[in-house]
Amino acid sequence: MTTSLDFPTQALLFPETTPTTPSSQPELPISILVIDDEQRARQSLCDLLKPLGHRTVQADSVAEALKWLQADNFSLALVDINLPDGSGQDIMRYIQDHNIETRFIVISGESTFDHATQALRNGACDFIRKPYMPASLLETINKEVVKVKTQHRYEHIQDELKGSEALHRFIVNNSPDLIYMLDHQGHFSFVNQRIQALLGYSAKKIIGQHYSSIVLAEDMEKAQFVFNERRTGDRASQSVELRLLNRHNKEIRFVEARALSVELTSMGVYSSSGEEGSEFVGTYGVIRDITDRKRSEKLKHYHQYHDQLTGLPNRALFHDRLQMALAQARRNKGQLGILFLDIDRFKMINESFGHLAGDKILQRITQRLKTGLREEDTLARVGADEFVLLLPAINQREDTAVIAQKIIEGSSVPMRFQDQDLRVNFSIGIATYPDHGRTKEDLIRHADLAKCHVKQNGRNGYDYYSPQFKNVQRPALELENALHHALTNNELELYYQPQVDIVNQQVTGLEALIRWNHPQKGLLTPGLFIPLAEQSSLICDLGQWVLERACHDARLLEDHSLTGLKIAINTAMQQLDRNGFQKQVLESISRHKLEKNYIEIEITESNIMQDMHKAVEILSQLAEKGISIAIDDFGTGYSSLSYLQTLPVSTLKIDRSFICNLSLHQSGTPIVTAILNMAEALNMNCVAEGVETKEQKMVLKQAGCSIIQGYYYCQPQPLTDLISYLKQANEGTLNHCNQLRKV
Ligand code: C2E
Ligand code: MG
Ligand code: MG
Repeated sequence: MTTSLDFPTQALLFPETTPTTPSSQPELPISILVIDDEQRARQSLCDLLKPLGHRTVQADSVAEALKWLQADNFSLALVDINLPDGSGQDIMRYIQDHNIETRFIVISGESTFDHATQALRNGACDFIRKPYMPASLLETINKEVVKVKTQHRYEHIQDELKGSEALHRFIVNNSPDLIYMLDHQGHFSFVNQRIQALLGYSAKKIIGQHYSSIVLAEDMEKAQFVFNERRTGDRASQSVELRLLNRHNKEIRFVEARALSVELTSMGVYSSSGEEGSEFVGTYGVIRDITDRKRSEKLKHYHQYHDQLTGLPNRALFHDRLQMALAQARRNKGQLGILFLDIDRFKMINESFGHLAGDKILQRITQRLKTGLREEDTLARVGADEFVLLLPAINQREDTAVIAQKIIEGSSVPMRFQDQDLRVNFSIGIATYPDHGRTKEDLIRHADLAKCHVKQNGRNGYDYYSPQFKNVQRPALELENALHHALTNNELELYYQPQVDIVNQQVTGLEALIRWNHPQKGLLTPGLFIPLAEQSSLICDLGQWVLERACHDARLLEDHSLTGLKIAINTAMQQLDRNGFQKQVLESISRHKLEKNYIEIEITESNIMQDMHKAVEILSQLAEKGISIAIDDFGTGYSSLSYLQTLPVSTLKIDRSFICNLSLHQSGTPIVTAILNMAEALNMNCVAEGVETKEQKMVLKQAGCSIIQGYYYCQPQPLTDLISYLKQANEGTLNHCNQLRKV
């Protein structure tokens, strides 16, 4: 077990300096330096050593010997005492003084005791007198060779041990997780260097401290189990979530910043085999930083329970809070109030300013509503322009009216927006517990009914729920249900209005316009039900029906030899948002065996502005497949014109509001002329919508607009009625068909 934190720098240098796996020991070559002034004596020693496979080098003097010792590594030296330029003792001293690892044996004719003791004092391993017995000399040499080899093996093992320890330290210290070891009393006996980066503690200082010093007080109870873990294997603690104190932020009041979320895995460590039963040494553990994961979980949770535009709680969170508040009110025999708020005529704001601006206004309204609320109140957005407010602790029912009145008074102060003063009024319905309902469903429904009642009675006010409101009609809901039925009961129909080329006197295309044959109300125009359908996914089902029917009718026209007429289909942004819209279009076209250029997708400028990015993506994909794109009601969408360059548009439809004022005597044409010029520069076609008079037609013709659509030529007609008109047009008589019925 490692208890020290002072790792040798070698640990950090590990990859270059130490082997990563244990290697088998290389055989050490033994080199022996034979030093004797007599050539015969040297040679006979070498001959004696040769069969053993050792390398021998000869030297005949002190100088020669020192030169070899400096230049080479010798395991052993056989040294004679009397040499021509000095004594063998000088060589031995040199070896000693220079810490040379060569062992040496003295072989000398000098046999005095003095010489022998002097040699041994100078570090000689043995002293052998000449003449020597070869066998006993060899035995002495062998003994030394064995020692040299043992020493070498020992050093090799040492190196390997150092290397493997360095390897483990390197791995532990460079782990992205915090690795620690606690002693049996819960004090840190080891931590890797990761602790500094994760928690801001110095690794050295934490040694000896109790684990509780780094645990957030609120999580201490849970921490005790993991940090005191004695179990091993599968039963040991796995991935326990905790919060540890972050020393970097210890002064910060918020727990989120003061604490680091971690996941901890730990196990008991035992002295011998690691089995329980042997001596418990302490706990080993790994701590993983899960801040990022927690953050993304939190974000997901936030999006799940909040409205993205305003940041307010959404319906789901409101229901949760109401549930809790109700439980509390029941326990305490208290009261609570719900205010259902609906912005009066928000649709009009949206239509006048465009949806993007509408969103900004909603954000401003939210800010206003929030001021003056208490911390325990919950304001939630539950519909496009609908909010609910929960007042969880009221003393009497009248408290809710005070709040409602405050909201109404607050909203009477004009809001400055795009250089205009906006007045945003509310219709507010109130229901209180227990007077107006005992369940959350009843309370919300009753507050909603009270709000409908206020709306029906002139808006901009508040009222309490009353049982008689049960009969309040909810026209929108009814209409929505009826529209669902209309789709299945075949009550929908497509009318078509021709687009006429006034230069060539030819019909170039038709716009498909939906109608609803309502069983009671008669024929309804889209203005009465499309906006409602756009508030739910109904618009997509309806759009799908239109697409299918328009393709079917295009086929019918082909079959009547009315070829080459492009059918424009009005499309809502919600349809583009839905996965697979492009596929739907292409499949319908191919199912009815049409050319792709027979279909044109028409989308209003304000629809595009709802999600420009998505619109560009989907419309581009359609354009790539050969389907043309038209921008409807062009000039009314408050849009920046730069988007025209990014959209694959082939036609601009000049909105009727620019056409209706055109007159030969007034200068009402500049906008129309500007749009026509721009379309020409961008290589787009232009269609003038809502042309009702000959005069308008003339002005447009003079301005260079050749394609017009409007009552002047033809009202929207059912296909069967239109076919004869188209056939006449084909034959060269292009009547204006005012005689045809107006819808
Ligand atoms: P839009 O696409 O701009 O269609 C032109 C509207 O102007 C049509 O109204 C048409 O009847 C009317 N119109 C044509 N010529 C004249 C004229 O000379 N004078 C006057 N005053 N009006 C004229 P409609 O059919 O009531 O449709 C209204 C809007 O409803 C359409 O405007 C379009 O935005 C939407 N709409 C129609 N059908 C569909 C559909 O199938 N899907 C979707 N999403 N929207 C549709
Ligand atoms: Mg249109
Ligand atoms: Mg239009």
